[in-house]
Amino acid sequence: MNLDLLAIAAHPDDVELTCGGTMLKMAEAGYKTGILDLTAGEMGTRGTPETRAKEAAAAAKILKVKYRGTLGLPDSDVHASRQHKLRLASVIRELRPRTVIIPYWEARHPDHYNASTLCYEGCFLAGLKQLPISGEPFRPHKILYSTAFTTARPTFVVDITAQFKQRHKAILAFSSQFGPRSGSKKSEVFLAIDRLEDEMNQLARHYGDMIGVRYGEPFVQKEMIKVNDVVKMEVRSV
Ligand SMILES: [Zn+2]
Repeated sequence: MNLDLLAIAAHPDDVELTCGGTMLKMAEAGYKTGILDLTAGEMGTRGTPETRAKEAAAAAKILKVKYRGTLGLPDSDVHASRQHKLRLASVIRELRPRTVIIPYWEARHPDHYNASTLCYEGCFLAGLKQLPISGEPFRPHKILYSTAFTTARPTFVVDITAQFKQRHKAILAFSSQFGPRSGSKKSEVFLAIDRLEDEMNQLARHYGDMIGVRYGEPFVQKEMIKVNDVVKMEVRSV
């Protein structure tokens, strides 16, 4: 499929919350983008997998991605087993993304940090000729780590000010997760997820501030960032 950019994350709505603005920005720039959810999010407190699949498709439309798929791993049991890596590697061979965005390697939720290892190793294995799976060997050119769910210091921030409204819409497309709780009793247990969208928006403001814009999304790349023109470098020094 030769995608330019593929974002992979453990649960449906992780991509929207962590790098939805960047995905839309790249689609608007003319790149062919895609989202791969490792699980269907069946362990979530709210919403059935069927509902979440519908919501994921709606969110994908808002973010203008050309592809959205689910790898079908068990939610809460994402790990870098040989079997999971081979499954991921065959999808990488099909989609052939130049750049991938994967979760940062440290996180509170085990699925998130395990997804990071699984994604890195799956991308690596996809390039091995002798791997016992079908498809042409392929390895992405670039791996970026989304740090939005962590406190890790990003190495760069993408300006998503122009995409922020649509990102918000894409997040709200997961109405079983983020919609108003109609008919809910006051005694209902307050879930962390009720605060999540708010927190992610505040984070986008925080990282936007760090690069002198309204909203931004944070990433880490392991490699050094190459600069050709130090005179035209952006972000004003304080
Ligand atoms: Zn998640």
